[in-house]
Amino acid sequence: MKYKGYIGKILKVDLTERKVESIPLSEKLAEDFIGGGGISAKIISEMLLTEMKPLDESNPLVFMTGPLTGTIIPWSGRHCVASISPLTDFWGESYAGGTWGKELKKAGFDGIIVTGKADRPVYLKIMNQIVTIEDATALKGKDTYETDALLRKCCDEKAKVAAIGVAGENLIRFASIIHEGPAARTAARCGVGAVMGSKNLKAIVVKGQGDIELAKKERLVKSIKDALPELVTNTEHRLRKARSVFSMFIDDGRPGVNNWRDGELEGFKESLLEEIETHVRETKPYLCAGCRTGCVESNVSAGERQTVWEVIAPLGSQCGITDMKCVRKAYEICNRHGIDSISAGGTISFAMECFEEGIITEKDTDGLKLTFGNGDAMLSMLEKICKKDAFGAVLAEGTRKAARLIGPTAEKFAMEVKGLEVPAHDPRAYNFFALTYATDNRGAHHISVLNPRVEGSDLIDLKPLRFVADGAAAIVVRRQNYSNILNSLLLCMFCEVAFAQYYTPTEFQGLTAKEITNWFNLATGLEKDFKSLMHAGEKMFNLKHLVNLKRGLDPTSDSLPERFITIKRKHGPASEHIPQIKEMVEDYYHHRGWENSGKIKAEKLEELGLVEL
Ligand code: SF4
Repeated sequence: MKYKGYIGKILKVDLTERKVESIPLSEKLAEDFIGGGGISAKIISEMLLTEMKPLDESNPLVFMTGPLTGTIIPWSGRHCVASISPLTDFWGESYAGGTWGKELKKAGFDGIIVTGKADRPVYLKIMNQIVTIEDATALKGKDTYETDALLRKCCDEKAKVAAIGVAGENLIRFASIIHEGPAARTAARCGVGAVMGSKNLKAIVVKGQGDIELAKKERLVKSIKDALPELVTNTEHRLRKARSVFSMFIDDGRPGVNNWRDGELEGFKESLLEEIETHVRETKPYLCAGCRTGCVESNVSAGERQTVWEVIAPLGSQCGITDMKCVRKAYEICNRHGIDSISAGGTISFAMECFEEGIITEKDTDGLKLTFGNGDAMLSMLEKICKKDAFGAVLAEGTRKAARLIGPTAEKFAMEVKGLEVPAHDPRAYNFFALTYATDNRGAHHISVLNPRVEGSDLIDLKPLRFVADGAAAIVVRRQNYSNILNSLLLCMFCEVAFAQYYTPTEFQGLTAKEITNWFNLATGLEKDFKSLMHAGEKMFNLKHLVNLKRGLDPTSDSLPERFITIKRKHGPASEHIPQIKEMVEDYYHHRGWENSGKIKAEKLEELGLVEL
């Protein structure tokens, strides 16, 4: 590999044959697909069998870093886990922070491709390029915190562990992969933990001491120094920022209330702000490698991660719950057993509405009064889901499949897109969220929404445009392409989002595309301009769309649940808005160069170099 930043090797593991081999990461792959989600998409598209079910042993599970991972470049501590999702049956990708990705590169690999299924529980041990498949029978049934501690004890105290809990073992369709034990850096979305469980792979332990070479290190160091302000680490500063971010979420009208049926939950904001105050004052940041943001959602207490917005809303307001102690407990269950808190909240709040509507009763729920606001019932149902106990086994299928099992009257309460539950930002509050949820390759996903900080257009204020349909498609297309770049470089999205920069002065607006492009070139020795990076981002997005088409994606699924496009929120600044989704999706297809059927036009395939696929 002539490009720096990469190790140049991918580990291939066939668990059926118990075979491991190191294969080269080609320069062409690095040039065209960069890393992370991009390289994963290329690998999976080439291994895809049309008839394959996500929990079949032939479904590949790919862990992938990027050329910046583990280097001196700030915010470069993330890695990608990709597969065909058992929740949606389509393209699935998930991202985790922490230091596991950095450690994998130090251990000698850019990524891992896992196929097959072991005949009993195993874990993968990767120590400085020495790879072994070890017996994990004794770890069966252990939660992710215990698994982390036991594996570090027997392998190396400083090793980094990616593990599934009982939810992954039980093939819960929204099971996650938890990295670094109680610090819980989570690859949460799309059910990648269930794919890991289907392979009988309990954990991957990594430890290494290798170096990562950089092409132009001195210039890179100087450029980083010039771009970044001095960090501000005092608690009052962090608290001010946290208050403004979380208040903004509520005041914007973002959190769902009672399965998105209502627009306001009395006492929720007060309870949240009180929680955030204690959280910032009494817990400590646990930073991903290279982090300069210090998001308060990374904070731990006695080593255990405490709370994030994507649990506070899904398992709080969405379930009608204002008791933050209960929400924290829910998050602990999600992380110990290994499930996605967004999908868990979506599924339980769906079941709560079915219960309130009389579609299911206490007979179905094992005597639980599954009403909005009943925190004890929510916690019990979470446990039941993870263990596939009684009605928990129905909800373990995720909202879409559970609704089909319950019956047609339940389907209108299933708040998901392509099978992926809606995250904690109401699509009625911003057209950009609405269109992104409708069109993202994964289903309803919130990360690729904001405007890229491109020179010349980085000062666009999206707030006045929040309800305007005209122009939304162009912004969403551009943002999705740019997100694909960030997700192939594996940079944290909080490198560019000014409002979440807890460690930096208020004036700092985050990184721009100019710095990101420059650092990528200085690290790798490649010479790309921003335009060619955006072209690569567009290619990655379209490749994932091709994977979905190959798996039978119906373009009518590029929409939103009926509730979001027929019923108003009724409270807050977004109280009267209904996203103009049909009009925006049509415009979006036009901007993407797709036919009305969702197929990619021949000239677009040609332009992107995707014809052979
Ligand atoms: S902002 Fe949070 S998620 Fe991003 S790198 Fe820092 S600690 Fe990790």
